[in-house]
Parts: sequence; C-alpha cells; structure tokens
Amino acid sequence: MTTQTNIEYQNLRVFERLSDASGWTPLVKLRKSLNAYPNAEVFAKIEFTNPMGSVKDRIARYLINKAISEGSLKPGDTIIENSSGNTAMGLAMMAIENDLKCKIVVRSTTAKAKLDALRAVGADLILVDPSLPPEHPDSYNKKVYTILKDHPEYFFPDQHNNPDNNEAHYLTTGPEIWQQMEGKIDYIVGGIGTGGTLTGAAKFLKEQDPSIKVIAVDPVGSVFYDYFKTGKLTEPSRYLIEGLGDEELINCVDFEYIDDIIQVTNEQAIKYTRLLAKQEAILAGGSSGAALFGVLHLLKTLPNKQNYRIVTIFPDSGNRYLSTIYNDDWIQEMGIDLKEVLE
Ligand code: PMP
Repeated sequence: MTTQTNIEYQNLRVFERLSDASGWTPLVKLRKSLNAYPNAEVFAKIEFTNPMGSVKDRIARYLINKAISEGSLKPGDTIIENSSGNTAMGLAMMAIENDLKCKIVVRSTTAKAKLDALRAVGADLILVDPSLPPEHPDSYNKKVYTILKDHPEYFFPDQHNNPDNNEAHYLTTGPEIWQQMEGKIDYIVGGIGTGGTLTGAAKFLKEQDPSIKVIAVDPVGSVFYDYFKTGKLTEPSRYLIEGLGDEELINCVDFEYIDDIIQVTNEQAIKYTRLLAKQEAILAGGSSGAALFGVLHLLKTLPNKQNYRIVTIFPDSGNRYLSTIYNDDWIQEMGIDLKEVLE
C-alpha cells in the first residue's frame, strides 16, 4: 500500500551545493496589512528563504561563479567587498564552497546578529566608522579601495558598480516574478541599496510589459531621492535602515528603470516592519517594512477602484534585527515613537 502525502514532488529539488538553492523564492499575498485597500492585491517576494537568508545570495552566487568560470578567481584567492552584511553572507557561502577567503568591510553599527553570523561562517570583518564622510579613505565607501592599493591581488566584486549585480536579478528575480504573477503586474515597489534587485528585475519586467511601473523606496538621508527628483546631490545624513540608500551615486542604481521614488523615514520603515510581523507573521528586516510603507503610500495616491496587482520585495529576515528593530529598548534609545504599534 502506498502512503498518501500532499507533497508536490516537482517542487522538491536536490542540490550539489548550498548556493544552488538560491532563488525560486515564494511570492506571498499580503492580507491584513492591506485591509484598507480591498481592491489591491499585493504580493511579497520572500527573499529570506534564500540559503544565507537574503536576496543578496543571488548576486554572490552569480558574481563568484562568473569570476571562477572566467579564470579570475581560483582556490586560495581572497574576495573583498563592502556590504551592509547580506552580500557578505552570500560571499562567505561562496568562499566556503570554492576554498576562497572572504574579507568584508562593514559599518561598526551593523546589527550584531549579522556580524556574529558573518564571523560564524568565517568572514574576516573590517569594521569602519559610519560617521566618516564618504570621501574619507577609511569610510565604508572608500576603505576597499584603500586596502586594494596594498593588495591588488584581492578580487573585488564591486556590488555597487558592477552591472553583473543587476544582471543576476535580470536573469533570476525578474523572470521568477513574471512567472509567479502570470504576467499580470501593474507595479513593482522595492527598496534600493545597490539598486541591483529592483532595477535589474525591472529591466526584465519592462521588457515583457512596458506598462509595468517601478517605484523605488529610499530612506531619508540617502542621496537617491533628491537626485531622482532634482538631478542634484544633497548632503547625506545617517539613517537606521540597513541595506538601503547610499551617501553617493553608484552605477547599479539604474534610474532609467525607475518611474518614481518614495522617501521613507526611520520611524515609518520600523513601524511597518513591526506591523508585518504582527499582522502577517512575516518577521522581516527594516527594508521590508520600508517597502511595505512604499506600497501603502503608492496606494494612497491611486484611485481606489482598479484591481491593482503590485509586487514588492522583502530582502531579509527579522532574525538579523532582534536586537535593534524588534527590541523596544533600542527603539526607545533611538528616539522612535512606536506607541500605536506596540500597544
Ligand atoms: N535590504 C537589505 C536588508 C539589503 O541588505 C539590501 C542590499 N543592500 C537591500 C535591501 C537592497 O538590495 P539592492 O542592493 O539589490 O538594492
């Protein structure tokens, strides 16, 4: 007698390497967060189901496999990259799989769980002071170049400027969304850090259907919003949402594929991150709350009649931020008012 199960066997895959399990992340319809908009269908791409817990596994796999196949990386070599932590986790996975070393420039204020996880997978961390201006040789943006002067042999994927970052999403994230949405999409809304995820996926989606609109979300303090709106660069300032925004323009933010940009404050991003956990059981990072804020802000501006189909991207898990965004003492220390969420 055979045993009955409800497993769909075609979805169960077996992999030679952990990195090959990247991608094919679920798309989940949001429910209670959208109560105010019964005509909207919003689907979130849950990227924390990637092997190292974030959307950035996709680019780590693509960039490193490409470098290996082109002969620019071989066992024993060292990778160096600046990362808010997630690309670093993906690179650490690729380093282990391919017998490489991995050095990561990371801001000292990065959530402790991310730093602990990076150390656990053998990444060598170079902590930088986030208050240094971007032009300082020891700043987050310049430290890698300073190190490369002494170590030109290191391999620098350069996720902020390397068009292969966008290409990884053009080849995976975009086609997955297109297939999962059966080609019916009105808007895609997402945060931009390097810009690879949103603008890489957007390029693919707009090629399939040029009427799809792409809305980027940028934290107050980052330079992208003002640049998009005015063409000018304004003075950056510090913000709390890890992984989003930048202090200077970078090549991978491909403004050609962005139709509009929404600004988000620390308070708004954190409030919607905490609401996501409470209303949807989606324990995600701050950039996911920022993306949800972007979706709700967009819906506020649209006539509430049409059946909008919106896709958003939730890049990483809240497990990395239990000591920050989900910690009430930290919230208070940062002067953030979440009364209505915490009640
Ligand atoms: N959210 C988080 C938590 C991230 O780590 C990143 C990567 N910087 C992003 C969003 C943005 O992704 P991308 O770099 O592809 O724009």
